[in-house]
Amino acid sequence: MSRVLREVEEALEDDSLRRALERAAENNERNVARVLERHPEVEHLAREVEEAKKSVIERLDYYIDKAMESLRRVGARPYLAETPEEAREIVAGIVGRGKLVVMSKSMVAEELRLREHLEALGNRVWETDLGQLLVQLENGRPMHTIAPAVHISRVEAARLVSERLGLELSSGSPEEIVEAVRRFLREKLVHADVGITGANAVAADTGAVFLVENEGNIRIVSGLSRKHVVVTGVDKIMPTILDAFKAVLVQAAYAGLYPPTYVNVTAGPSSTADIELHRVYGAQGPREVHVVLVDNGRRRAARHPVLSEQLRCIRCGRCQLECPVWQQSANHWGGRVYGGPMGLGWTAVTESLEVAAEAAMLCLGCMRCDLVCPMEIPLSRIAAWLKRQYTRRMGLSG
Ligand code: SF4
Repeated sequence: MSRVLREVEEALEDDSLRRALERAAENNERNVARVLERHPEVEHLAREVEEAKKSVIERLDYYIDKAMESLRRVGARPYLAETPEEAREIVAGIVGRGKLVVMSKSMVAEELRLREHLEALGNRVWETDLGQLLVQLENGRPMHTIAPAVHISRVEAARLVSERLGLELSSGSPEEIVEAVRRFLREKLVHADVGITGANAVAADTGAVFLVENEGNIRIVSGLSRKHVVVTGVDKIMPTILDAFKAVLVQAAYAGLYPPTYVNVTAGPSSTADIELHRVYGAQGPREVHVVLVDNGRRRAARHPVLSEQLRCIRCGRCQLECPVWQQSANHWGGRVYGGPMGLGWTAVTESLEVAAEAAMLCLGCMRCDLVCPMEIPLSRIAAWLKRQYTRRMGLSG
């Protein structure tokens, strides 16, 4: 039996997983409905973001060049990594060995297995998003694109935090866990040599990197270390700084978290010109900002008639929570990194067409994902195309 089928079968027997996913789906539906009712303008913004993303995908190489040029202009150091190996090598070269590294949640970092790679080089690496830290502590993988620990109950979270971090808890309530982790991570954040983040959007016209969050960890990770390394996919490039801002607002709204508590914008390293207007880099924030734009199949997908649609995805995770198959199995249904309806396309783009095609065979074709996607990505059409690849490979098509 394949890895995908085995994992889905095991997930189907896990009642607590199903209850956790049902709760998450109900909460998301309620939250998004409330946001859209109070802020109907978000739906207009979504259409604008969709059009902007289409224009980038049509001329991806042009926008990559433009973004890199703008990043250089603001004093950041851009890199284009074609493969995960190349990206890992670039980041390892920036970080070095024996360093303390803090990270914020990034699916592209998961694609690269970046934390594991940096740890193997003798660095101490800590995730600072609570959900992602829990995933790190259980040696697992994210089960949802914005809620990576959606499968972990409060009891399990308390066990992980007390056993793996040695933190004393009395009630094990979510509040107590959050406070204990805050104290634990504070010391790492303050002393970190390097902060690594993803990006929700990168503006090609200005080189501004946008990050949206609620926990407050990203602003510390990106603002306190001497080196800030951004690792993100080339699909996150937006034409302008205004488009990039709209993209993060739309992502937050369709994740049911609107307005987002924080939107962080970084355009190059920190600097001051307060003494004789002489510019000095490295004031209170990072002295160096490195931006690693990862291809990993995205440029090839941009030229593909079906898979190019997936590149519009803003990773709001709504299609996952809406999907009846994902609600039973979480990201066990999918590739190593991406699962659920969006995970089929992303797995085909970044990991393996074979794995994606096999996983697609479990899609019911109910099209609920199509109806909720703010980028109007025809997810069921991508799944149907993948099914055809599977039947062809197996010699089942007529
Ligand atoms: S495919 Fe659509 S609904 Fe799913 S995560 Fe991407 S943007 Fe959101």
